[in-house]
Amino acid sequence: MRVVIDAPLRLSFDYLPPAGMAGHDIPIGSRVRVPVGRREAIGVVVEHAAHSSVSPAALKMVHEVIDTAPLFDASLMQLLRWTADYYHHPLGEVIAAALPKALRQGASATALAECWRVTSAGQQAIADGAGRRAPKQQALLAFLVAAAPAASSAQVAARFPQWRDAARALRQRGWIECLELAGAEAAGPSALPPRDAAEPRPALSEAQGAAVAAIAAIGLDYAAFVLQGATGSGKTEVYLQCAELTIARGRSVLALVPEIGLTPQLVDRFRRRLGVGMAVLHSGMSDAERLAAWRAARLGSARVVLGTRSAVFAPLPDLGLIVVDEEHDSSFKQQDGGCRYSARDLAVVRAQQNRLPIVLGSATPAFETLHNLDRGRYRALGLPRRADQSEAPRLALVDLRAHAAHHGLSTPVIDAIRRHLAARGQVLVFINRRGYAPTLLCTACGWIAPCRACDARLTVHRSGGQLRCHHCGAAEALPAHCLRCGFAVKPVGQGTERVEETLRELFPLEPLIRLDRDSAPRARELESIVHSVLSGAARIVVGTQMITKGHHFPGVSLVVVLNADQGLFSTDFRAAERLAQTIVQVAGRAGRERTRGEVLIQTEYPEHPLLQRLLAGGYEGFAGAALAERAAARWPPFGRLALLRASSPSSQGALDFLAAARARAPAAPLVRLLGPVAAAMARRAGRQYAQLLIESAERGPLHRFIDDWLPQVQDLARTHRVRYALDVDPLDIQ
Ligand code: ADP
Ligand code: ZN
Ligand code: ZN
Repeated sequence: MRVVIDAPLRLSFDYLPPAGMAGHDIPIGSRVRVPVGRREAIGVVVEHAAHSSVSPAALKMVHEVIDTAPLFDASLMQLLRWTADYYHHPLGEVIAAALPKALRQGASATALAECWRVTSAGQQAIADGAGRRAPKQQALLAFLVAAAPAASSAQVAARFPQWRDAARALRQRGWIECLELAGAEAAGPSALPPRDAAEPRPALSEAQGAAVAAIAAIGLDYAAFVLQGATGSGKTEVYLQCAELTIARGRSVLALVPEIGLTPQLVDRFRRRLGVGMAVLHSGMSDAERLAAWRAARLGSARVVLGTRSAVFAPLPDLGLIVVDEEHDSSFKQQDGGCRYSARDLAVVRAQQNRLPIVLGSATPAFETLHNLDRGRYRALGLPRRADQSEAPRLALVDLRAHAAHHGLSTPVIDAIRRHLAARGQVLVFINRRGYAPTLLCTACGWIAPCRACDARLTVHRSGGQLRCHHCGAAEALPAHCLRCGFAVKPVGQGTERVEETLRELFPLEPLIRLDRDSAPRARELESIVHSVLSGAARIVVGTQMITKGHHFPGVSLVVVLNADQGLFSTDFRAAERLAQTIVQVAGRAGRERTRGEVLIQTEYPEHPLLQRLLAGGYEGFAGAALAERAAARWPPFGRLALLRASSPSSQGALDFLAAARARAPAAPLVRLLGPVAAAMARRAGRQYAQLLIESAERGPLHRFIDDWLPQVQDLARTHRVRYALDVDPLDIQ
């Protein structure tokens, strides 16, 4: 039988079944321990081959069969194969990426689940009202009481992202205990708190009702819907009602959200509304939590999986609906390392293969998605603003050349902030750069603090007293003097920290909060920041893209975009699309209940066509014009791209390798090769990067070309001692 292992090999290996077993006794999709050279590896059976190219005498035997039932059912196996083929990536690595680490290391797929329950001492203590407890402990205790007889760790983790400390404290008091129950028993729906009766289901607007009806009418057949509506227009409400209908039919639901969109509020909303077992999967979870969530999904005790990118591979028997929220978000595309898949695109493939409906939701659909709508492959479902919502916010440009600016804030912007604060509105200031300033400059000799490992400047982080590289993570102490001539240095330009400082000077009495990766490195900080905005405790919010994702801030009446210009002149053909999405997404945070919001965009190029189109025609108008430009240039979605990236310690190594790879390219009249060229930032983390772009009008010829070419590329990489990666449908081609 044929087995793949987690290794960068585009091969599978043939093995004999262990003594006393026939090959067909070991189902496809099961894990086996196999000898590989002198070591042992864990592989997955992918085929029952009747014949092998290896002579029977030379075939080795499987050491051990780990699973009695396959980890992946036939449909998931089909998706994994499709992924490996389409992204030209070794199947063994694709399978490994789809599994929690513990399963890659051989943990049982069905083992007993760690569960928690309240002890009789705990019951007694609650009855007595004894002991003052920390709020987190109290909440956990209440949850476990409601979840009687017990809740699995996965269920607890889905409700309380940071719960281990509280559990430990309660356990030390003897109020709760940890036990192992069989997965299904532990996480069965009976073990779940009943649906909160206080959770009313709003009456749907006409457009929402039509959307739910259209999706439900599909039943179990493939159809892709694009649910387009501004933030707050009620998309999540549509997902929830579709999910309820799906669950009522005995089917399960997969919902994918962007990396930053998976907030505790959203998890809560799904949990409270759906009232069935739910597993949450995201990158911030521990290995044990991921394993528990995976098992709960596979055993069918979690009927809903809510997760980020890699959850597209979650095992879900009887899947009936897939939802991708904020489908335009770039975090759905794996960008660094491993198989560079798009979870959004794979979700559509999964829906096609399984014949079920998929809903792609966004206020600003990706151009690929708009193109699929144009071609009739997807169906449009629009959600106009609901009657009880305020009008769309008013967008205006502020010409930076015409007004004085104070540390990057122009006078009209400062005036507007003052006006909105006086009217008790909250103000949101967006700047696409964290840290204090992007540059540290010597005022005497012009020296600029550089990263030693990258072609990049170091960013000043004043709060940490550091210079940091945002590309390789290098950090050093913030120098007081120029490292070349010893004269005074000064930070130039703005980042979130500096804008925060400026606004605190201008509005010393207004509570302000900063939201970026430094102020909210984990879910816990993010939750507390979001809470202080929602409660109105913070009047001014300064933040990066993190403020554009997934949060509703109904008290915000003014949104300011400080540096739109970065995206206007990029060499990346997707930069304009990304900038327009960001502006529309940030603008979507403005608009109080019943009062019209205001959005100010600072720019030095108010006449730039992109900004003009966006203001005049909104996202649709902008996208229409931008898509026409893409069609003329034959860029995606009107052509297909793949990018071969290479890196080496020397500057010539990567370029030489790519030139050699190009020279060995098989003849393919419908495929064009562009390059090689050095990457826009050639040196990164001490390595030199270069790239070769592969382009074709059609998908078929492109993929046939890559299939023929890749073995040559692999050989050349070995002789040239370079690292390379193939990126199919790259998002970033700089
Ligand atoms: P989106 O996902 O598009 O941002 P949500 O579904 O989260 O929008 O809806 C925004 C807010 O409006 C939520 O508080 C939600 O409960 C509420 N809401 C959604 N649909 C309705 C409706 N039909 N009637 C009343 N409130 C609604
Ligand atoms: Zn100097
Ligand atoms: Zn660096």
